[in-house]
Amino acid sequence: MILPCIDIHTHDKSRKDAIINIYPHEQLIDGAYHSVGIHPWHTSNVTTITIENLKALSVNSQVVAIGETGLDALKGASIEKQIEIFKFHISLSEQVKKPLIIHCVKAFNEIITIKKQLKPSMPWIIHGFRGKPQLAQQLLNNGFYISLGEKFNPETASIIPIDRLLFETDESTLDINKIIDSINNNCIL
Ligand SMILES: [Zn+2]
Repeated sequence: MILPCIDIHTHDKSRKDAIINIYPHEQLIDGAYHSVGIHPWHTSNVTTITIENLKALSVNSQVVAIGETGLDALKGASIEKQIEIFKFHISLSEQVKKPLIIHCVKAFNEIITIKKQLKPSMPWIIHGFRGKPQLAQQLLNNGFYISLGEKFNPETASIIPIDRLLFETDESTLDINKIIDSINNNCIL
């Protein structure tokens, strides 16, 4: 998969060479790459306007990925509602042929099951992954890409093949190269 930036996910709008996440009501930043989606935490009152904005932004050439979207068992709307909104992002991702950036908290079984059912053609990236190697292996076996940020499990970092591994700053204030260095140096080889 080719994404145009080393830092595949940030909320910091001043970052350069990063995919800056925006929400459907926000404006694109000149010259920047973006991902756009409804965060699982914001799934309680999704309006038609939000959906229309999301659709319109998804086809823009500055938008290179759909998300972050996903499932969070601890926050946001009911899991049923979240699944419905997640599935909308999946169909959008397939329609506009852009990868999906996924936020997942305590709902990995659901996400893996949905992927098996829908067999999407676009890459699915689990962002900010902090899980153990066993879970990472399960995700890798199911074709997922895994993105690591400031906080990660070193043992997990050492088992992700380089062609499935991505990096991100997310909410961190560190430079992306610092994060990549720490992932490289903390790897248990
Ligand atoms: Zn994020």
